[in-house]
Amino acid sequence: MIKDTKIPKADSNKVYLETMGCQMNKLDSELVLSQLTEMGYELTDNPDDAGVVIYNTCSVRQHAEDKVISKIGNLKKRHKEKKDLTLAVIGCMAQRQGPKMQEENPQVDIVCGPGQIHRLGEEITKLQKTHAPIVMRNSKADMEKLEELDATRKNFNKEAPFSAYVRVIRGCSKFCHFCVVPFTRGLESSRPIDNIVEETKKLVDGGVKEITLLGQTVNSYHYVNGKAHTLADVMYRIHDFTGLERIRFVTSYPTDFHDEIMQAMATLPKACEYLHMPAQHGSDAVLKRMNRHYDRQQYVDVINKYRETVPNIAIASDIIVGFCGETEEEFEETKDLLREIRFKNNYIFQYSTRPKTHAEKELPDDIPLEVKKRRNHELLALQNSIAQEDNQKFIGQTFDVLVEGPSKKPHLNTIPDTPISQLHNIVNVSAKPKQAEPVANEEIIQLVGRTKGDYITVFNGPKSLIGQIVDVQIKKASAVTLFGELDS
Ligand code: SF4
Repeated sequence: MIKDTKIPKADSNKVYLETMGCQMNKLDSELVLSQLTEMGYELTDNPDDAGVVIYNTCSVRQHAEDKVISKIGNLKKRHKEKKDLTLAVIGCMAQRQGPKMQEENPQVDIVCGPGQIHRLGEEITKLQKTHAPIVMRNSKADMEKLEELDATRKNFNKEAPFSAYVRVIRGCSKFCHFCVVPFTRGLESSRPIDNIVEETKKLVDGGVKEITLLGQTVNSYHYVNGKAHTLADVMYRIHDFTGLERIRFVTSYPTDFHDEIMQAMATLPKACEYLHMPAQHGSDAVLKRMNRHYDRQQYVDVINKYRETVPNIAIASDIIVGFCGETEEEFEETKDLLREIRFKNNYIFQYSTRPKTHAEKELPDDIPLEVKKRRNHELLALQNSIAQEDNQKFIGQTFDVLVEGPSKKPHLNTIPDTPISQLHNIVNVSAKPKQAEPVANEEIIQLVGRTKGDYITVFNGPKSLIGQIVDVQIKKASAVTLFGELDS
C-alpha cells in the first residue's frame, strides 16, 4: 500500500511531471501521479509554478537522453535560486546512469529507476526536509511493492480518462543486441493474473472503456498459478466486464504464444483487430546480428496466420535502419519486406549505439549518419505510399470510432458541407444507446478518434462525443489519417 504520508499544503508541493518515451513510461507516470496526489501533492501543468519537477526519461535512443539533459540544464539557474525546488529524474535513463546523473548534473536531487517508483513519494518528502540528494537503488522488496502500486493505482490518464494501460509483464529477457531495456527495466516477469484482472475491473468500474494490456513482449505473458496462463487467458477473463468496450495489447514479439492470442482476437468481440509486432529488419543476416530470435520467413508466416484468423487485422511494426554493418542489399530486403507485408504503419528509427548493449561492445556503429538518414527517408516514403494506396479501400466504409478529443491539428479541408443543424440530427439519429446525447446547439468542432484497427480518424461533431464510440463513414484517406462524417 502507499504509505499514509499526508503532507501539508504549500507551493513547494505542486508537482510538474513530464513523460518521454514509450507507453510503459506513460503508465509509470500515472502511477507516480496517483501516489503523489494520494499523499497530498497537487498537480500543475506549469513547470515554473512547481515545487517538484519530475522528468520521466527514456534511454532507447541517444536523442531521447540528449533532450533530458537539455531540460535539466535549463533548470540549473532556477534550482540555485529556489532552494525548495526538488528535481527528480526517473525512468530508464535514471536507472542507466545512477549516481553519474547527479555527478554530471548536481541540480538533480533524486535519481529513481522504473523499479523504485513506488518509493518516490516518500523520498521526495524526505528530501524536502533534509535537502540531501538521493540516488535510489533496487532492493529485494521492490517487486512486491511495485505490484501493490500497480494494483492500487487510480486512472490518471488526464487526456483520455476513458482509456487506460494495464501492465501484464515487467522487463524483457530477449536481449536484442541494440536494446537497453533489459538493463533498465530488468528481466521479464509476468504479473499474477488475478491482480491484472482486479486492476482492470477497478478501472472499468471507474469509467474506462478501453484497456491496453502492456508489455515489452506482451504475447510472452506466462503466469503459472496451479495452471499456466497466457495473454489470451487475460483477455478472456476481462472481456465481459460491463462497461469495457475495447481490449488492445502492445507490443508483440514475433515468437511465443500467438495461436491462443489470435484465436482470442477472432472470438472476442471487444478485442481490437490491431497487432503491433516489430519486424526490426527484413534481412536474415541483420536479424541474426540483432539477436532477434526469428528469421524473415517466420515473421511473415506469423503475420499471414493472423491475417487468416482475424479478418481485417491492421499490422504495425518498428524498423531500424543503419544497424551495424547494414549493406545496401540488406537495406533493400527491408524495403522488400514492407512491400510484402504492406504494414498499416511503421515506426522507423535510425540506429544509435546504447551503452551496455552487446552491439556497443562488439559491433561497430559503422553506417555514416547521412546514409542512415537517406535510408530512413526512403523507407518512410515507401511506407507512406503503401499506406496511402491501401487506405483508399476504406472510403465509403463505416467504422466504430472511440472519440479521443478535439483534433490537435485541424484539417480544414475536411469540414463537410453538411449544415450544422443537420449534423446535430445525425448525431441524434446515429447515437448508440451507450452514447451521451449531444447538447442542443452545441458547437461543432473537429474531433479525432481511433477505429478498432487503430486508424486515426478525423470528423466533425460536438464536444460531448468525447469518450463515446460513434459511427463514422470515411470520405477521404491519407497515409496516416482517415477523414469522415458522422454516419446517419
Ligand atoms: S524484445 Fe528486444 S527490442 Fe524489445 S524490449 Fe526486449 S530487448 Fe528491447
